Amino acid sequence: PLTLRGIRKTFGSLTALDGVDLDIPRGRTTVLLGPSGSGKSTLLRCINLLERPDAGELDFGDGPIPVGGRMSDRTVRRVREHSTMVFQQFNLFPHLTALGNVTLAPVEQRRIPRAQAEASARELLAKVGLADKADAYPGNLSGGQQQRVAIARALAMEPDVLLFDEPTSALDPELAAEVVAVLADLAAENRTLVVVTHSLSFARRVADRVVFLEDGRIVQDGTPEEFFTSEDPRLRRFRDVVE
Ligand code: ATP
Ligand code: MG
Repeated sequence: PLTLRGIRKTFGSLTALDGVDLDIPRGRTTVLLGPSGSGKSTLLRCINLLERPDAGELDFGDGPIPVGGRMSDRTVRRVREHSTMVFQQFNLFPHLTALGNVTLAPVEQRRIPRAQAEASARELLAKVGLADKADAYPGNLSGGQQQRVAIARALAMEPDVLLFDEPTSALDPELAAEVVAVLADLAAENRTLVVVTHSLSFARRVADRVVFLEDGRIVQDGTPEEFFTSEDPRLRRFRDVVE
């Protein structure tokens, strides 16, 4: 599993994460829920050091890596190799086609020969239902299609862990459904997914495990069943407000 120990992050006087301990099981889908400002995005971003924690350790199965203090570039690269993030706003390069977006990092960063990278990229685009859009530019794709290109791009990095920060919240419901279907396929393939969402229906459908955060602390960590039946007033309030 991926293990987080004592992850702490402050912004000035605000404690966004107050020493979070979390085990993320391999081959499972972990859904992070919690009120706005509870620290979900910050926690996700700490896993690949888009945000630098003030203290804590990450362990991807090859030994604990202290991520609190100064880190060498090599350590940062080592941490980042393990995970890839998919953002709410897709963040595709507008001047590159779908194929160009998916092959860029494999060719530039992973030094995979272009022909091979393009062949895998076409397979990944087919996997997310976009076999016919390889040559399309992001501007000519719907939001749901752009997000599926972004997912193909993340898969092309072959990370151990895929991180999603509200992958459907910028989309209309019918476009979000296409993206949820792709996520459900990935979950069924026993990939390791960590998904921040506000969607209880998504959590109900795809989560193997639900982690509920409040004020930078984990309040509940268990099965979806436990989350949806908990009588804890904080969870009840959240469930009532969101759905
Ligand atoms: P939401 O559901 O609204 O996306 P969240 O659970 O993802 O919320 P975070 O974005 O992780 O919450 O923010 C946690 C806390 O840290 C919030 O109080 C937020 O205002 C603060 N915060 C996050 N990023 C920064 C930053 N770069 N500078 C200052 N404060 C920040
Ligand atoms: Mg957030």
